[in-house]
Amino acid sequence: MRVTIWNEYRHEKSNPAVAAIYPQGIHGALEAGLSRHDLGVIRTTTLDDPSQGLPDALLSETDVLVWWGHRHHDEVSDDLVARVCARVHAGMGLVVLHSGHFSKVFKRLMGTPCTLKWRADGERERIWTVDPSHPIAAGIPAHFTLEQEEMYGEPFAVPSPDEIVFLGWFKGGEAFRSGCCYKRGLGRIFYFQPGHETFPSYHDPTIIHVIANGIRWATPVAMMEGPFVNERVQPMEAIP
Ligand code: ZN
Repeated sequence: MRVTIWNEYRHEKSNPAVAAIYPQGIHGALEAGLSRHDLGVIRTTTLDDPSQGLPDALLSETDVLVWWGHRHHDEVSDDLVARVCARVHAGMGLVVLHSGHFSKVFKRLMGTPCTLKWRADGERERIWTVDPSHPIAAGIPAHFTLEQEEMYGEPFAVPSPDEIVFLGWFKGGEAFRSGCCYKRGLGRIFYFQPGHETFPSYHDPTIIHVIANGIRWATPVAMMEGPFVNERVQPMEAIP
């Protein structure tokens, strides 16, 4: 399997509080944690890299793409968004983390506003595994706690998920569909809510385990050679 972690990587360079938690960048923390899960080749790339981190050569060699972005979604070019969405339709898996809910890529694939309620006060989140037999829940406890997370609350303006694996409950009272599965074209998409940049969620082994399971679940079963096309075709045998 070939996993590519794409990170906006701006907060870590501009905010010392974020750099203190993620000195190697959020992508570095994800890579370090995920490398313990035998996922194959893991590469990292960032918005400020050439071709905004995803030249065709890398995208075409990616089976599952992990996406973390926040403040600079609008800088991601429409060309890159189109190329990522086409690759998802062709079968590539996509794992969208935390504020990636508002990325151009996720919003285009969902076709809805993807808005939510939020409050970054660092409150306790209790995450419930509501579909224990789902592959993404393998080895994950019935519930687990993050002492500090950003509250994401309903209504989450996404299409009804094909499957909901996790629900989050926050100390302040809100609840959220924290782990949601979709299929778009041949591609599988997993959205997972934890991961605000000023809290250490990506150092939490259970969070990393969920993301690793999400990557495995999103691994392509079948990839199309080219894009979907609308075409008239000849019949396979004579039609009377
Ligand atoms: Zn956040």
